[in-house]
Amino acid sequence: MHVVILGGGFCGATVAKLLDAVEGLETTLITKTSFFEYNPSAHKCLNDPSYQGYIRVPYNAFLKNTHILIDGVTSIHSDRVVTSSKEISFDFLVIATGVDYPIYLKNTKNVFKMTCSQDALKIHKSLKGASSVLIVGGGYIGTEISAEIACKMKDCQVTLVHSPKRLLERSSVIASRYAEYFLRKRHVQILFGEKVIDHKKDVFLTNTKRSIRSDVTIWCTGTRSNPFFIDDLKGDNLSKDQRIKVNDYFQLPGHPHIYAGGDITNIVEEKTARKAEIHARFIARNILCQYNKKRCRRYESRSSPLVISLGDLYGITQFNKMVFAGFGHGLFKEIIEWWTLQQFHK
Ligand SMILES: Cc1cc2nc3c(=O)[nH]c(=O)nc-3n(C[C@H](O)[C@H](O)[C@H](O)COP(=O)(O)OP(=O)(O)OC[C@H]3O[C@@H](n4cnc5c(N)ncnc54)[C@H](O)[C@@H]3O)c2cc1C
Repeated sequence: MHVVILGGGFCGATVAKLLDAVEGLETTLITKTSFFEYNPSAHKCLNDPSYQGYIRVPYNAFLKNTHILIDGVTSIHSDRVVTSSKEISFDFLVIATGVDYPIYLKNTKNVFKMTCSQDALKIHKSLKGASSVLIVGGGYIGTEISAEIACKMKDCQVTLVHSPKRLLERSSVIASRYAEYFLRKRHVQILFGEKVIDHKKDVFLTNTKRSIRSDVTIWCTGTRSNPFFIDDLKGDNLSKDQRIKVNDYFQLPGHPHIYAGGDITNIVEEKTARKAEIHARFIARNILCQYNKKRCRRYESRSSPLVISLGDLYGITQFNKMVFAGFGHGLFKEIIEWWTLQQFHK
């Protein structure tokens, strides 16, 4: 039995690790880089590029039996995957290629996205000598980045533009208020209810015709799911927002041997690293159930804790409707990072 896994992020790397040593299974991981990266901590590389080495784990350090193919998937069919260099047949397929983080501006000079440590290193270079930074989007990523820069680059004026009326708008009001209080106390200018729509020569224009000058701009808003490679697979597989439709077992309807997990799925829940790992556990177990002709396990989305760091020491921890914020929660995120990376180092 051959299991092919597409994408080596939180979901794909976890499935590969869980199936790596299973007797009778041959596993192949196809992904674009040779290492797993803990991207929730990528913002730490903005000030400390050496942190990159700490959050990356080469796949061959924890996948001893899995074939690793560093390549991009170009199309999938019901029995095989096509990459830019090969065609590989499978008995089971797992699609875990995540989402893109596009910049919705025509002029992207000095505008950066922040999706991984490599992006952070590019921003790090540009931040040298910068006196103003504009962050577009005050969700989890934009809020963490604003705090990181405000805490560690005190001579830099940080402006955060967020179109909803509060930061972290999908979280509780207490979390939003704490994040806003924390950032304002560190002189971050926060503009609510506005969208950045245009950019000319380091001046950014919002929909209320406000102009903001910025040396470095970090785009932290909007994700796009773009599983173009699925087009050749027969069936109605995509939701309106281009996410892959899955049933309660993470299988594509009509294709019980093809699974999808992580951010790319149409499951209605907060898209997080923790969720992607939980999806992976279900997918690995259900593949083994199918292989051993047992009943698969049904997934029900439940809330899981989310930690947002604000600098190294402060942060916000949310679980269900409970919110804890203040000193120590940044360290809590570091413990989660250490624990997660330990799982991959084992
Ligand atoms: C900067 C940042 C900070 C974040 N902070 C947090 C946080 O604090 N807490 C939290 O829970 N979540 C956080 N998230 C979200 C979390 O990282 C995602 O929810 C999680 O990575 C989703 O896992 P995934 O496996 O679905 O996709 P990903 O982890 O994105 O992995 C996708 C993989 O697929 C590969 N790939 C893509 N296209 C192809 C292709 N065509 N062929 C082959 N391989 C391909 C990619 O190289 C990548 O390895 C953050 C995200 C970002 C970007």
